[in-house]
Amino acid sequence: MNASRPIRTPAELVDTGLAATRDLPGIEAVAERYAIAISPAMAALIDRHDPSDPIARQFVPDPAELNVTPDERADPIGDLAHSPVEGIVHRYPDRVLLKAVHVCPVYCRFCFRREMVGPQGLGTLSPEAMDRAFSYIADHPEVWEVILTGGDPLVLSPRRLGEITARLAAIDHVKIVRFHTRVPVVEPERIDEALISALKASGKTTYVALHANHSRELTPEARAACARLVDAGIAMISQSVLLKGVNDDADTLAALMRAFVETRVKPYYLHHPDLAPGTSHFRLSIEEGRALMASLRGRISGLCQPTYILDIPGGYGKAVIGPDALRADGGSITVSDFKGGEHAYPPSE
Ligand SMILES: *Cc1c(COP(=O)(O)O)cnc(C)c1O
Ligand code: SF4
Repeated sequence: MNASRPIRTPAELVDTGLAATRDLPGIEAVAERYAIAISPAMAALIDRHDPSDPIARQFVPDPAELNVTPDERADPIGDLAHSPVEGIVHRYPDRVLLKAVHVCPVYCRFCFRREMVGPQGLGTLSPEAMDRAFSYIADHPEVWEVILTGGDPLVLSPRRLGEITARLAAIDHVKIVRFHTRVPVVEPERIDEALISALKASGKTTYVALHANHSRELTPEARAACARLVDAGIAMISQSVLLKGVNDDADTLAALMRAFVETRVKPYYLHHPDLAPGTSHFRLSIEEGRALMASLRGRISGLCQPTYILDIPGGYGKAVIGPDALRADGGSITVSDFKGGEHAYPPSE
């Protein structure tokens, strides 16, 4: 056992006690289709004695991933439909995704881009493709924000990240640089001074959107990594995926959102799980999600409330699917409060 490098193969899962020998054939079949990686920090967090450990469920492959349902698709949110040049997704007028890498420090079993990420995925953009992506951004003055995603952009070296932010800093109309990452949680030791300064684009505002799904992921080391980012002047927001068997109850979600706020990470999105192949064991219904969202409203601070989001299959973008607070009845509206009570507005007397 070597705790200083990620677990990447079925045999290593067995050797480290994360999978049973009898499960090996099923896990090997999964490994032929989808990448595996569990960082040392996440491997250490898994409770080997809990068969339904929420951290293990996110990262340890499950033979259920071989079960693909008819509604699932390789490109569930329609990235390819909106990609004008390699590495860019331009779905909304004022912002683009820049996907420079397609590798991650961990491979989430529910990943919405699981057909594109990993060693067999889309790879890293060539220098020429990078040039074309930056030209596209420079030629589109409506692009106010550039969102680095992938893959996980924070796997890049500080030198390569610094090159990207310097090139974005040179484009006047880009004001916001946003990184979507899991690194502060899964490899907190990577968040050092060199990496932090590489994330800052001179004259621009940097946001880091942290992906985490369970409060246990916010370890003391992860919280310290976030503190280094925030103390350096980087604003942080969260994104989580609502996942059956990981965080699909009100107590777990409330603890997660509070952990973010305590860490100075403002809860941003709670995603309904996408229709990625082999992920039906993670999906719950939108009704269940809305009921969970409604239960958060009265229970935890307004600071802790994320927006519940569905990425509409086919590339139509995101839709807010949070609990209905509003119903129109002719001239007036009815709002529901956090206990389910209904109130006309304006009030009838
Ligand atoms: C999710 C997404 C964004 C970012 O959306 P926000 O609502 O600004 O967080 C931008 N472009 C694409 C293509 C996306 O899928
Ligand atoms: S970190 Fe993001 S892109 Fe990478 S495997 Fe997890 S969900 Fe997919």
